[in-house]
Amino acid sequence: MRDPLSVVAIGAMGGTIAMKRSTPAGANAPALEARDLVSAVPGLDQLVEPRVESICNVPSASIGVTEVLQALSFARRAVAEGAAGVVLTHGTDTLEETAYLLDLLWDEAAPIVITGAMRSATTPSADGPANLLAAVLTAASPQAAGLGVLVCLNDTVHLAARVEKTASMAVEAFESPGFGPIGRVMENQFRLNWAMVSPRPEALPTPRNAPINVALLECGLGDDGRLVRAAHGAGFEGLVISGLGVGHVPVPMADAISEVIEAGVIVVVGSRTARGGTATNLYGYPGSEVDLMQRGVVMAGELSPRKARLLLHIMLSAGFSPAAVRARFDAG
Ligand code: ASP
Repeated sequence: MRDPLSVVAIGAMGGTIAMKRSTPAGANAPALEARDLVSAVPGLDQLVEPRVESICNVPSASIGVTEVLQALSFARRAVAEGAAGVVLTHGTDTLEETAYLLDLLWDEAAPIVITGAMRSATTPSADGPANLLAAVLTAASPQAAGLGVLVCLNDTVHLAARVEKTASMAVEAFESPGFGPIGRVMENQFRLNWAMVSPRPEALPTPRNAPINVALLECGLGDDGRLVRAAHGAGFEGLVISGLGVGHVPVPMADAISEVIEAGVIVVVGSRTARGGTATNLYGYPGSEVDLMQRGVVMAGELSPRKARLLLHIMLSAGFSPAAVRARFDAG
């Protein structure tokens, strides 16, 4: 008798993987539900026992905290009912952000694996079915247990905290700059490239479903800090700045940052470069990381600014103190 197959829950959230062109020359729009996605992968049910649900069917620019919390409830329910892992299908544009938000909140050993597609279902050589199969195999693999939330596209598996969409149209659109993928899917098997040395940080409390009250600004040459003051004026309680190099800003912007910190805004500065993150003690002139830290700025470390925005949102909405926010960012 055959061993029972692992249960893998598959929740569909939309994106290109669920889109079609109505005519060959037309543009892609949402079309497919969870069940359609699974039936495009012949033999999937010989490998795992799929439990399928449509959570929403929207382009990923329309995913917000509400949809992410719905996906979290779906995943929690699935694991409580015996799933070995959970797969979410999602648009690729904000996939890394949904993955990271879920990773901050996920406290189960069973993995959540998020996938999507760069080519819609009606495109020749659509990548959705292969990506879904690879994600399902990863979710069912005991090797993925304890890794939190993973992202799997193009047979390559990434940690949620590190992955980024680095190309807008290529099939190989996802990378973990500076780190590389944690694993691959080969011959129907998830294989780890390397093991995590530091444990995953403790899961944070699930936030109330409130709008994100943290603004994200990119700093550019000659930036005078007007947008920093405007963000404070617009009522944002947190501000993330995608800073220059290892986390620097022009002096007028540093002065604006001092003003808003004085007014109670928590300011995090990350790096707008793709690899390496921010420093803490490399440069000591006005506008440098040493100066900004003396002004009360929290440095984002190796977290991308857009992920820093989400971490700050979760911590502020759960009522963490500024000291606790700083400690969490410092821990990396
Ligand atoms: N615009 C699409 C989305 O993010 C792109 C994709 O899924 O690849 O929903």
